[in-house]
Amino acid sequence: MEKIFTDPNIMLVVHVQNQLQAEDIVGELRNVYAGGASGSLAFTEVWPELWIDEKHIERAESLLKKLNSEPEFVWVCAGCTEENASSFDYCWHCGELAPSAT
Ligand SMILES: [Zn+2]
Repeated sequence: MEKIFTDPNIMLVVHVQNQLQAEDIVGELRNVYAGGASGSLAFTEVWPELWIDEKHIERAESLLKKLNSEPEFVWVCAGCTEENASSFDYCWHCGELAPSAT
């Protein structure tokens, strides 16, 4: 297994997991419940992580690049005014539902 993606926002990590799963790349979430037990760990060590099989790494990385290269279809969150990629069903920042996903 290799770590393909990590972000403090679990919604975004799950979103990426869903996108990869749509391409038959099954990911495994780690550190999902670590937030409440961070203690003396650096906070980056307890971010939710998405891990996948090494054999899918190359394809997953190109998929992630594609996800990140759709700036023309951005929607602005009604909850926190952050910009989101069109492929996001929820705001990456606050988890608000996308206006088009209702
Ligand atoms: Zn938001």
